[in-house]
Amino acid sequence: DVTVLRLGHRPGRDERITTHVGLTARALGADGVVLAGAARSRADTVVDITDRFGGPFDVETTEEPKRRIREFEGTVVHLTMYGEPIQDVEDDIRTHHETEPLLVVVGAEKVPFEVYERADYNVGVTNQPHSEIASLAVFLDRLYEGAQLDREWDDPDQVVVPMETGKKVVDPEDLEDAD
Ligand code: SAM
Repeated sequence: DVTVLRLGHRPGRDERITTHVGLTARALGADGVVLAGAARSRADTVVDITDRFGGPFDVETTEEPKRRIREFEGTVVHLTMYGEPIQDVEDDIRTHHETEPLLVVVGAEKVPFEVYERADYNVGVTNQPHSEIASLAVFLDRLYEGAQLDREWDDPDQVVVPMETGKKVVDPEDLEDAD
């Protein structure tokens, strides 16, 4: 079980980033996202996409993210440019994931030092500054070794039919009829 915790959110500036953290968590295989503090405002959008394109994917909010991280029963992974290179720790983290839940923390602005201390792994996706969306995507892809790309979704209202050129979105009932 993998939960992504979005810590911090600057209203105005971070609206799309926070939404994209939630959508990337969902699309790339996490089981849920927890939106903390002001990030809670983006929950409806992520729930709406899950309703349309399928689940399961949990969207939770919290006013006490630090407590949630502190008391998490499992392995806490904090994605940060200051952390250990992902390529050095991914095998260990994958082993933990076989037996216990993971909480993957991504920040927005400066992350409190207690998060670095509580984290079982502070992980850098390179030690260069970039983005919580990019680091989350690479982390999940490494964790699942690409298997998440083939996942199927429960109860979608819409399904995209992949095509070489063009856009095709259908009602899943029509897909079954075509079988
Ligand atoms: N400067 C901020 C700090 O000192 O914590 C980080 C701001 S950065 C725009 C927002 C988030 O992106 C970070 O909290 C981290 O989760 C993620 N991030 C950015 N670069 C990263 C990297 N190279 N590896 C892992 N995560 C990264």
